[in-house]
Parts: sequence; structure tokens; C-alpha cells
Amino acid sequence: MTSQPINWHGEAANLTFRNNAFIDGKFVSAQSGDVFDAINPANGKILTKVASCDVADVDIAVHSARKAFEAGVWSRRSPAERKKVLQRFAELMYKHADELALLETLNMGKPISDARSIDVPGSANTIAWYAEAIDKIYDEIAPTGHGALGMITREAVGVVAAVVPWNFPLLMACWKLGPSLAAGNSVILKPAEQSPLSALRLAELASEAGVPDGVFNVVTGLGETAGRALGLHMDVDIVTFTGSTEVGKLFMGYSGQSNLKRIALECGGKTPHIVMADCANLDEAATAAAFGIFFNQGEVCNAGSRLLVDRKIKDAFVEKVIAVGKTLIPGDPLDPQTKMGAIVSKNQLDRVLDYIEVGSKEGATLLSGGKQHLTETGGYFVEPTVFDGVTNSMRIAQEEIFGPVLATISFADTDEAVRIANDTIYGLAAAVWTDNIDTALSTARRLRAGSVWVNNFDESNITVPFGGYKQSGFGRDKSLHAIDKYTELKTTWIKIRA
Ligand code: NAD
Repeated sequence: MTSQPINWHGEAANLTFRNNAFIDGKFVSAQSGDVFDAINPANGKILTKVASCDVADVDIAVHSARKAFEAGVWSRRSPAERKKVLQRFAELMYKHADELALLETLNMGKPISDARSIDVPGSANTIAWYAEAIDKIYDEIAPTGHGALGMITREAVGVVAAVVPWNFPLLMACWKLGPSLAAGNSVILKPAEQSPLSALRLAELASEAGVPDGVFNVVTGLGETAGRALGLHMDVDIVTFTGSTEVGKLFMGYSGQSNLKRIALECGGKTPHIVMADCANLDEAATAAAFGIFFNQGEVCNAGSRLLVDRKIKDAFVEKVIAVGKTLIPGDPLDPQTKMGAIVSKNQLDRVLDYIEVGSKEGATLLSGGKQHLTETGGYFVEPTVFDGVTNSMRIAQEEIFGPVLATISFADTDEAVRIANDTIYGLAAAVWTDNIDTALSTARRLRAGSVWVNNFDESNITVPFGGYKQSGFGRDKSLHAIDKYTELKTTWIKIRA
């Protein structure tokens, strides 16, 4: 039996939105009664009004999280018990995958086929992976002398505040939730104000799976109010943040002004995508370069926004990238054929269009795209845009645009490519295409970035750490390394008297 294709517009018309904060196992409005608009970026219309939490609500959420942590309803359950609950949580995410994908697409504009095939399964798999891992991690006994036993154990940190962005709302949340919940912490998730809807449904599913009240709370609200209140709260033990470098720096300040809470930062990027002249498969590289910047409307922290190409092949290569870009013209995010959707908000649209103007004014050559698209829809669409003749000191090469705008820079040799690639405040990711194994390995070593892709772009799964060098942040999401952030190491000395 073949299944019927889903009528996404029909499903959207029947969807109910959760729009209150989720605290201590219940949906509650903000103490102030304030709300903010959740917008559909594909048409600029209001989807629903969401509770706008502030200091008072954050305080209640932190109190509830602390109470649950101290009571041990989650923190003192065995890893095997937590595993079972989190596995049920992941199963419920798979069961409600269409609904979660729809919430993601309606609220932030990404194509439904990506939300359904990438974001939702990736998020559920993250929860399932940490669930599976947590009862297989052992503690240590130190190699001390005969007279003592030095036990090194991991303990949950306590109350975790996870502050996340709008580009992959569910996935970024699950990268934080998976390891922190598995390790026994209580969590307060603050989704971005542009994209709060999927997080609220997620909390409800976690509760249905058996995550106890107070262990997973969602505080909806603006960054300057709810986010700031979490950063400054005296009883939050760690803020795990994904977002811009600018706001990441604010969190460092909040920590210093309050209780010296731990801060883990996953921030911005300006990924160099390097193509050497000896790359044998230029078509494959060009497709990767185009998807590397246009996937998710370019709203990707590791988007390959700087294309560095050997000047001998540059013109022919850029033509190929533009040809792929022309197949990715933005369209209705709810159409399963659409490969590029809407930019998340009017603000972000204006920011992207401003940068396109800046690029032209700085003297770069606009080769393709550059304009708003589908204006008659009321939505925020931008054409895939390619600049050539960019120098690395231009603003479009240095500043994170977070939109479908590619800056092409040519180089003469490998040394120059590496120098340009590393000449940035960021260090999240880099890629290099070459058919010479020595060039591949030596270049990968010289690139100052947390992830380096050789002859591919954006290869990813949950088993490997992800995070940045330099102002792209510190600490790592994904893999077993992420658990380090959410655990304290305790040394217990026991004297052996005999
Ligand atoms: P943002 O920094 O504006 O917001 C991120 C979060 O911080 C949101 O929840 C927001 O409400 C909150 N926030 C904003 N201002 C705040 C303040 N003054 N005090 C406290 N909290 C505040 O980022 P964004 O626009 O939502 O997302 C885009 C950014 O995220 C880009 O820079 C991108 O590179 C980065 N990002 C990084 C990764 C990564 O893994 N390194 C992944 C995705 C996105």
C-alpha cells in the first residue's frame, strides 16, 4: 500500500498551537500577562500570541527546576531508568514527527521536506542516542597507592538553562536536552522569540513520556528579558547557549555579575569553503558549495559563506555554483518540492538585503540573485545570491550575514588559501576540496576550526563533537564529549586502614 502524500496546507489549517510557557509540568501564562507574536515568515501573518516571560516567570521556573533536582525525582533515578523515559520521549517525537515538522516550518520558514527529513529525525535521534549512552558510561578509580582509594565520579551540575536560536529550533534544543537530561539535570529551555512553537510541543511530549514535573521547563520570551533573567539568575548552574557571538559575550558578563555560573557557547561562523585547482570532481564540489550556503536559506552557523577558489579555475567554478543556485529558487515552504524557504523574520530579511547592498558598495561584483523574491506573498524570501571579486577585508567576508549570500575570493596557492581562511574572528568550520592527500591533510591541520570537511561539506552525525575555535565559542555539543559540560567531577578520598 502506498501512503498518500500529506496535504501540508490542510494539516496547517487544523493545527493547534501551544502558546503558554511550560513550567512545573503545566502550561502557564506569563505573570504579567504579556504576550508576543509568533509570525509565519512565509506570509508575515500572526500564527498565535505567545507568553512573554520575564524575571518573575524565570524565577518560578528556576525554583521548580531546583526543587525537582533536590527531590531526586530525576537526578537520583538510575541511568537505566532515565534511559527508558528518554527513549519513550524520542519515540513520541517520531510518532508526532509530521506535527513537529509543521510547527518548525510554519514558525521559521524552512522547507517542510527538510524539517520532516532532517530536523525532526535528527532531534529525536539525538535524544535516543544520549538515552542509549548514559548507562554505559563508567566512573574512575585513580591509580593511587595502597593506603587510599581515590574515586572520581561524575555528578549532574544541577539547573541548566539552555538558550537557543531560531535556525534549527528543535535540533539546537535537543543537542542541549539530550546530554543534560540524560546526565540527570533539570533544564529550563528558552527558545528564540522568532521560533518558540516547537519547543512547547516538545515539553508536552517529554512530560507524556514520563519526564517528571519541573525537570524540563520551557520559558518563552524575548532575549533581553527572559534570556537575560536566566543569565543573571543566582540559582542557575550553567547556561548552555547557541546563538550570535555578540549575545554569547553578554552571557559571559551575566555570569560575572551573578553567581559565576558556567557558560558554554556555540556562536557564529564565517566558514571558508576552499576549492583547490587539483580537485578532480568540480561538479560535486560546486553542488556542495551551493548547498553549503543556500541550505536552510543560508541561516546556518557553519554555512560555507566564503568560497575560496584557486584563481586558475575560479571563473568556471563559480559558473557551476550559480547554475546549482538557480535550481534553488525560494518557494512556498509547505510545498514538498521547495528546496529553499523564507527568511525567519522581517528584521533578518532587512539585514540580509542590507548586506547585499554593502557588498555592492564595497566593490564586490554581484553575479547572481541579490533581490527579495515573492514579495506579493507578504513573506520574507531572498534569491540565492553570489558575489565575486570579494576581498577578505570586506564586511561581507568578515561579518556573519546569516542568509543566502556567497562571497567568492580567489587565491594563488595553498599558503594564501590557508591565510585567508584563518583571517577571521570565527573558527567554527572549514572545508577543503583537493585530490592530493598531502594537501588535504596538511591543510586540514592548518585550518583553525572545530570541524574540517575534506571533499565534502556539512557531513554530520551525533557521534562527533561540534563547536568552535576563537569567537565561535567553546565547549562542544554532540558526542559523549557534550556530557562533560553537564557534569561536575568529584574526587572522593577513602582511607584504607588495613
Ligand atoms: P541571537 O544571539 O540573537 O539569539 C540567540 C538566543 O539568545 C535567543 O534565544 C535569544 O532570545 C537570546 N538572546 C538575544 N539577546 C539576548 C540578550 N540580550 N540576553 C540574553 N539572551 C538573549 O541569535 P539568533 O539570531 O537567534 O541566531 C543566529 C545566531 O546563532 C548566528 O550567529 C549563528 O551563527 C548562531 N548559531 C550557532 C550555532 C552553533 O552551533 N555554533 C548553531 C546555530 C546558530
